[in-house]
Amino acid sequence: MKPLILDGKTLSQKIREELKAEVESIVSSGGRRPGLAVVLVGDDPASEVYVKNKINACKRVGIESFFYKLERSTLTEELLEVIAELNAREEVDGILVQLPLPSQIDQREVILAISPEKDVDGFHPENMGKLVASMEDGFIPCTPLGIDLLLSHYGIDVKGKDVVIVGAGFIVGRPLSLLMLWRDATVTVCHIHTKDLKKHTLGADILISATGVPGLIKSDMVREGAVVVDVGITKVDGRIVGDVDFEAVKEKVSAITPVPGGVGPMTVTGLLMNTMKAYRRRTRSHSTSMMKP
Ligand code: NAD
Repeated sequence: MKPLILDGKTLSQKIREELKAEVESIVSSGGRRPGLAVVLVGDDPASEVYVKNKINACKRVGIESFFYKLERSTLTEELLEVIAELNAREEVDGILVQLPLPSQIDQREVILAISPEKDVDGFHPENMGKLVASMEDGFIPCTPLGIDLLLSHYGIDVKGKDVVIVGAGFIVGRPLSLLMLWRDATVTVCHIHTKDLKKHTLGADILISATGVPGLIKSDMVREGAVVVDVGITKVDGRIVGDVDFEAVKEKVSAITPVPGGVGPMTVTGLLMNTMKAYRRRTRSHSTSMMKP
């Protein structure tokens, strides 16, 4: 039986159309456009592509983007000054600092400096804490948010399921494990030090891989009928590949994400959704505070 292809590209288009309609209606009734500041330090080619995709996606839904490109040699203090300026700018609803940062910059300081209300990447400890506490008013990091939307769109309920996440990175695996717990899954997180990876992956109803190791997940590591989500993005011989041996694995699973066209577009859509959430909250709280004497 052919597996269900979890098509993140088509779902993204649908969600982005809805966001576009919302922005158009705001603007036509005299409201200001939502705004996202995107900060890129240095000229890492992969980061430049990601940033360009995010800015183009904003443009298409009508979100204004403010692009800051800083020298590779930028110091932590200089980047903190830019963030302070963006925190204060009224028309900036969301701030995204593209990671990874050059090694001389203290990434921790940078994440802490972003106002939690504008932290659309969801990496600030206040938003991570809200994820731990299952509080709706925080920002969920964009990739976990995108995966959650994709699974629920295809009617894949994670409640009570054995969800195995391979990769415990700060951007994907770790926050995703908290989100899956929030959704009442039984969660196992594996990583480079996991003793017997296959033992864990074979137990998965839903297997999510986020390591960046091409071909890590082979067919004999996947249970018949499982759902497989491939987060990995690695360039091999000019082609983008995931962590999963797609051709072999697709023969035995009930549903699987393609790479590209699965989680990637959903991550950008998650960013747009978080930016809109920040905008709605900021414009609402602004008008409420204006009403105060
Ligand atoms: P990371 O380096 O922070 O984390 C990688 C994790 O994988 C670590 O926990 C590490 O222990 C684990 N790992 C590495 N090799 C392993 C192995 N052989 N067996 C088991 N675990 C292993 O990376 P990240 O930022 O979490 O990103 C992971 C991957 O996801 C990368 O390929 C990245 O490009 C991709 N990514 C994709 C999207 C998207 O939109 N699709 C978004 C973000 C990241």
